[in-house]
Amino acid sequence: MQGFRLGSISGFEIRVDLSWLLIFFLVLWTLSAGLFPATYPGLANTTYFGMGLVATLLFFASLLAHELSHSFVARAKGIPVEGITLFIFGGVSRTRMDAETPGDEFQIAIVGPLTSVLLAGFFGLIWYIGINAGWSVVVTGIASYLASINLVLAIFNMLPGFPLDGGRVFRSLIWKYTGDQRKATQIASTGGKWLGFLVIALGIWQMFNYAILGGLWFILIGWFLYNAAEASYEELLLRTSLKGVRAREIMTPYPEIVSADLTLQELVDKYFLSRRYQSFPVIQDGQPVGIITLSQIRDIPREEWVYRTVQDTMMPTDQGVTARPEEQMSQVLEKMQESSVRRVLVIQNGLLQGIITANDIARWLQRQREFGHQMG
Ligand SMILES: [Zn+2]
Repeated sequence: MQGFRLGSISGFEIRVDLSWLLIFFLVLWTLSAGLFPATYPGLANTTYFGMGLVATLLFFASLLAHELSHSFVARAKGIPVEGITLFIFGGVSRTRMDAETPGDEFQIAIVGPLTSVLLAGFFGLIWYIGINAGWSVVVTGIASYLASINLVLAIFNMLPGFPLDGGRVFRSLIWKYTGDQRKATQIASTGGKWLGFLVIALGIWQMFNYAILGGLWFILIGWFLYNAAEASYEELLLRTSLKGVRAREIMTPYPEIVSADLTLQELVDKYFLSRRYQSFPVIQDGQPVGIITLSQIRDIPREEWVYRTVQDTMMPTDQGVTARPEEQMSQVLEKMQESSVRRVLVIQNGLLQGIITANDIARWLQRQREFGHQMG
C-alpha cells in the first residue's frame, strides 16, 4: 500500500491510500446532499456543503486519532511503527512485526475502539452543551454526527472478525488460551470472512428495499472486510513461516546480470527474448546499481527502446530494493511489498550476492513442505 504522504505526527508518517479519496467524496456527498439536508431542512445548499466538509474533515481526524492510539501503544510495546495509511473505514499502522505476546496484541487492539468511544463522548458533550446553550444547528448538527459516527466506528471495529480490532482482540484471547498463534489467526480470519459475507448480504437486502446508497455502503464495507480477512491471514501465515529465516537462505545466488549502458532494445533482444527471467540485476563498473523488470520496459513506448538505456529505466538500488545476506526475511518481505518492482538485490560489501523474487519465496516454501518441515 503506497498512497501519498500527508505529513508526520510524533515520528509516525501519515499516508493516505488512493481509495480514501473516493471515500472522502462519498462521505462528503452523503453528508451535504443527504444526511444534513434531511435532518436540518431549510438551510442554504452552501451551508450544507460547509457542514459536510467540516464534518468529513473531523471524521477523517477521528480516524487518524483512532489509528494513532494503536501506533502509540504498539511503540510502547517495542514494536516499531513506521506510520499510518488511512483508507476506507480506518487505517493500518505500518509495522515490521507482529505483537510478541497475546497480552500486547490485546492492548494494541483495544485502545483503538476505546479512543473512538472517548471521541464519541467528547462530541456528544459538545452537542449537549450546544443544545442547551441554543447554538446554531450548524455546530450541533456536526457534533451530533461526529458523536454517532465515532460510536459506530467503535462498535464496528469491535466486531469479532480479523483484521478488525475486535478480531484482533478475539485472536489474542484464542492465542492466550490455546498458545497457538496460527490457529488463533485462522479462527479470527474465518470470523472476518463470515462477517464480510454477512455485511454484503445486508447491503443486498437493503438495496432490494430501495435503500440504494446505504446498501452500497454495506456492500463496499463487506467486500473490503472479506478481502482484508483473507489477505491478512495469508500474510500472517507467510510471516510465521519465514520467522527467523535470513535473506541468504531464500535468494537465488549469483543471478545473470545486465549492463546499465544497454539500450532497452538490446536488453529485450539479447536477454528477455531468450531467457525465462522477468527481471535482471543491473551492474555498472562491477557494482550493482539497480533492477530492471519486464513490466518496466512494457511501460515504455516501443519507439523509445532504441535510444533509452537500462540506466534511465531501472529501479535504482537507493530506492530501498536491497538487502543484506543476514537480514531477516520479515524485513525483506516488507521491502518487497513496498517496492513496485516486488524484488530485492542481496548485496554485501558493494558486491551482488543474489536476488530475491516472489518465486524464490514460493520455491522455498515448497521445499520446506516437501522435506516435511513443520512450519510455524
Ligand atoms: Zn483500530
